[in-house]
Amino acid sequence: MKKNKVLIVHAHPEKASFCSSLKNAASSYFTEAGCEVKESDLCAMGFNPVGDKHDFISLQNPDFFKYQMEQVHAFQNNLFEESLKAEMEKLEWCDILIFNFPLWWFGLPAILKGWVDRVFAMGFVYGAGKGVYDNGIYKDKTAFVTITTGGPQQAYGESGKNGNLDNILFPIHHGMFYFVGMTVLPPFICFSPARITEEERKSELVRYRNYLENMDNHTPVYTNK
Ligand code: FAD
Repeated sequence: MKKNKVLIVHAHPEKASFCSSLKNAASSYFTEAGCEVKESDLCAMGFNPVGDKHDFISLQNPDFFKYQMEQVHAFQNNLFEESLKAEMEKLEWCDILIFNFPLWWFGLPAILKGWVDRVFAMGFVYGAGKGVYDNGIYKDKTAFVTITTGGPQQAYGESGKNGNLDNILFPIHHGMFYFVGMTVLPPFICFSPARITEEERKSELVRYRNYLENMDNHTPVYTNK
């Protein structure tokens, strides 16, 4: 595999969870493959997910706060506060972006949603002269999600009660990754790790390693190449 730069953004509050084990498995795999790996372990970092005035060293308009306009202004004038800028630099640096998380309320845990709100800033990754989708700036980056669920696989099938996971993941695949031009690989999903046996969990880790080893062969969900 190409010596990629890999960023894993991880959002689980328990380091011994199965979700965290998946994060560790990816980190080990890419490191062994000669890639550089960086992690943003958001819960461990105590990442503040709330997009607000604190994102900025100073404001363009202190009388009326308009978040996207301040993001554009901050990008153009180097006014993002340091810890946010560090996350933006990791995003800019990586070739492969992985969101590793437990499905919470059919979506991203708030801490990870907030990372996107703040890091995928207007002016930095889209807007103010930068395009979106096929004209997005990150056409050379690849992204995918690695998820654990509570519900079993059959609950997420076409006729399952929870609905189709492709629809659930649309806001992430389409509205975040592809929006900024990334190639999006199919998700790796581990259904109900808490309801399967220890042996089955070990098999899931093997299946994940196999998914990673075959990354170049997955048919993308989106690509603009
Ligand atoms: P864990 O309970 O941490 O892991 C299961 C077991 O794996 C543990 O016993 C652990 O010891 C063991 N383990 C850890 N590492 C290894 C290893 N290396 N090898 C073998 N075993 C190991 N679910 C849905 O389906 N849809 C929802 O919308 C949804 N919303 C939620 C909202 C909230 C606020 C919360 C808290 C949960 C929600 N859930 C939902 C459930 C959630 O998605 C699952 O609880 C979670 O994904 C399970 O993964 P885990 O890593 O937390 O499991």
